[in-house]
Amino acid sequence: MTKVVRLVVLGKQGAGKGTQCIRLSRHYVIEHIATGDMLRAAVKIGTEVGREAAEYMEKGELIPDDIVIRLVKERTSTGIAHERGFVLDGFPRNVHQAEMLNNMLLPDALDAVINLRVPTNLVLKRIASRRVCADCGATYSTLRPPTLNWTCDNCGGEVVQREDDTEAAIQRRLDLYELETKPLIAFYRHHRKLIEISGVGQEEAVSNRVIAAIDDVLSGVNKPTHSQTS
Ligand code: AMP
Repeated sequence: MTKVVRLVVLGKQGAGKGTQCIRLSRHYVIEHIATGDMLRAAVKIGTEVGREAAEYMEKGELIPDDIVIRLVKERTSTGIAHERGFVLDGFPRNVHQAEMLNNMLLPDALDAVINLRVPTNLVLKRIASRRVCADCGATYSTLRPPTLNWTCDNCGGEVVQREDDTEAAIQRRLDLYELETKPLIAFYRHHRKLIEISGVGQEEAVSNRVIAAIDDVLSGVNKPTHSQTS
C-alpha cells in the first residue's frame, strides 16, 4: 500500500511556497491544497464564501478561521488528498488553525512542515514581479513569463498581477505573517515536525533540497528534532 504523505509548507509571502508546493505535489503525487487559490476561485465564481472573503483579501487581512478550516476539512477528506496525501500551502496561517488541523487529522498525521526561509528584501522583489494565472493559480514573473502572450502554459488562462499585490496589502500581509504565522515555526518545532530550508536560489535547487529533506524524514533516516538548515 502506498504511504500517505501529508506536508505543510510555511514561508513569507513571496517565499516561493506556491512554486515549491506544485513541485512537491507532482513529485509525491499528492494534492496541492492552496487556501489562497481556493478563496480566489470562490471570489471569481461569486459563491457565498467568495462574497464574504473578497473584502478581507483585498486589504490583505486574514479570512475568519472557521471559513478556511471548513474549506480545508472538505478538501483533505476526499479524493487524492484522502487516498495519497496533500501539501498544504497558505494553511495553517496562525496557531489556532494549526491546532484545528491537528484535531482534524489523526494525531501525528503530518509527516513534515517545511519552513522556506527567504529574506524580506528578496520577497519584496519577487512579489513586485509576480504574475499568476487567474484560472489555475500557476505562478510566473515578469522575468519568467508564460511562453505565449501572458496566457497560462498550463491551462490557457489569463496571466495577471494579483489584486492584493498592492503596496499597502503586501505590507499588511507581511505584518500579519510576523504576528500570526511566524509563531507556527516554534509550534511545529515543538511538535518535532519542522524542517528549515533556505528558499534562496533557483526553483529546482530549492526543490531538490526540500525533497531530499522530506525523503530523509519519510524513510525514517531523520526525524526533525530541532531546526535543520540546508
Ligand atoms: P495567499 O495566496 O496564501 O497569499 O492568500 C491570499 C489571501 O487569502 C490572504 O491574504 C488571506 O486574505 C486569504 N487566506 C489564504 N489562506 C488563508 C488562511 N489560512 N487563513 C486566513 N486567510 C487566508
